[in-house]
Amino acid sequence: MRTLKLMLATLMVVALRVSYLDAQASKTAPGSLHADAQRIRAHVKFLSSDLLEGRGTGQRGGDIAAEYLATQFALYGLKPAGDQGTYFQQVPMMEVKTLAETSFNFVANNVETMTLRNLEDFVTSNESQTETAYIDAPIVFVGYGISAPEYNWDDYKGTDLKDKVALLFVNEPASDDPKFFKGKALTYYGRWSYKFEETARRGAVATLIIHRTDLASYGWEVVRNSWGKARSFLKRDGTPKLQAASWIQLDAAKKLTAMAGLDLDKLFEQAQSKDFKPVELSVRLQAHIASQLRPFVSRNVLAVLPAGRTSQEALLYTAHYDHLGLDPDMKGHNIYNGAVDNATGCGVLLEVARLWSEAPSAPPRMILFAGVTAEEQGLLGSEYLGKHSPVPPGRISLDLNYDALAPIGDPEEMEVSGAERTTFFPAVKEKAKSFGLAIQPDAHPEAGYYYRSDHFSLARVGIPSFSISEGLKFKGRDEAWGEAQHRDYLEHRYHQPSDQYVPGMDFTGDAKLATFGYELGVEAVSQPKLIGWLPGDEFEAVRQKSQPLSPTIRKPPKRNAKPPRP
Ligand SMILES: [Zn+2]
Repeated sequence: MRTLKLMLATLMVVALRVSYLDAQASKTAPGSLHADAQRIRAHVKFLSSDLLEGRGTGQRGGDIAAEYLATQFALYGLKPAGDQGTYFQQVPMMEVKTLAETSFNFVANNVETMTLRNLEDFVTSNESQTETAYIDAPIVFVGYGISAPEYNWDDYKGTDLKDKVALLFVNEPASDDPKFFKGKALTYYGRWSYKFEETARRGAVATLIIHRTDLASYGWEVVRNSWGKARSFLKRDGTPKLQAASWIQLDAAKKLTAMAGLDLDKLFEQAQSKDFKPVELSVRLQAHIASQLRPFVSRNVLAVLPAGRTSQEALLYTAHYDHLGLDPDMKGHNIYNGAVDNATGCGVLLEVARLWSEAPSAPPRMILFAGVTAEEQGLLGSEYLGKHSPVPPGRISLDLNYDALAPIGDPEEMEVSGAERTTFFPAVKEKAKSFGLAIQPDAHPEAGYYYRSDHFSLARVGIPSFSISEGLKFKGRDEAWGEAQHRDYLEHRYHQPSDQYVPGMDFTGDAKLATFGYELGVEAVSQPKLIGWLPGDEFEAVRQKSQPLSPTIRKPPKRNAKPPRP
């Protein structure tokens, strides 16, 4: 009798310990719930077909892609999570094309005026979204234009930029010390988008980024190509914006400082020091910026798998569906099909969504799926999602993003750059191991890739976020082969009309990483606490701000509490 009682008690305890994770385990064991490479192939083949016209933001093909994602979500039985009970979140946008009559002049007393050549010496975009802007304002050299209290660095030293023009260098102070601007890795402070945002916040009307190939890591033609055409922006909200967000050629900048009797190389040297103070030049920028504006609406596609019990918290998966569209001025094949970038990510996102919809029981937190727009325009759809998330960022535990997964075989390595900065990294490592995937560190931290994909938009509002992709080592091949494939893609297909679907593509790895993302999501959603950034991380402060002291967040939710051990 006593034995029976003991047995029963033990059984009950064991039953209690069958948590959500355990319940999922039977289904997540190899061979039960796994993504299907052929389904991913079908999605990629459709989304990158000529009929989709390159899925341009604000173009018909992009809208069809959004409808396709929404339809698939609906077929899986996922609920709409967009505006007014739909799968769509309207993203109001503005296309801005800088017209040829735009002019920049540097003017100083007793010195000949210098007229810059549009596209040759400068590029500019009116982020404040007006058809005309006239600027006549003094120029202030502000070094790197960085204000980073955590590194005890402030280039402004209280200088007022209101109605002035900021002149600055791209990139950030060089460092080998991981505690100072993350050593060799590029932080967000080094990116051009930060420079425009920070100077606009400080009231500047225009900002001139000095282009130096070594600091930018790309040549002037890259700047010229991407800024020479129409650019899209989120429609203006209250955020301060520049009337002239500009780059200028190094030689033009040298002439500009010479007009003020200063030496640009010496100014650059000064900018390396913490003690640097802004230098107001005796030169004004007189500019006329003429722009053609086209307002339009694009859409994020949002679906949700509700939680089993009422939960205000969520896990998020993202992938951008937009690409570069169709170029009517191009001869021959003029469709940017975007098979790898990012029909593959969409195919994987859909497979992850399908797996979740087939999971044996409802998750303890909501699962959100977002196909985002306008990534190629500067992470705009995801930025809008971060600012207008259906679940507040402070209650989203994690964002897992998929962007351009090479369909070239079965990977033995993966990249999850950014995961090491979160409290979730031990779980990520364990899961990777169980998939036979070695985690490969970011091969080019100095390029700042972390800040160049949609997960960054979510990190900026505090959500621990990273992308999942394959590394260089594939089954039956060596790393050199993987590296060669990668280089071949970058040179011959990346952002070119040749990024097309071909039957020889092998989606084994894409499927593997979809299954990985699903299983990792099961882990994430089962954590007692929401995931956070490690102490000292650049996103930790905004995460804490987004999570006002609330028992549901600070304390582990009861439903996930582990019963006492027998
Ligand atoms: Zn791209």
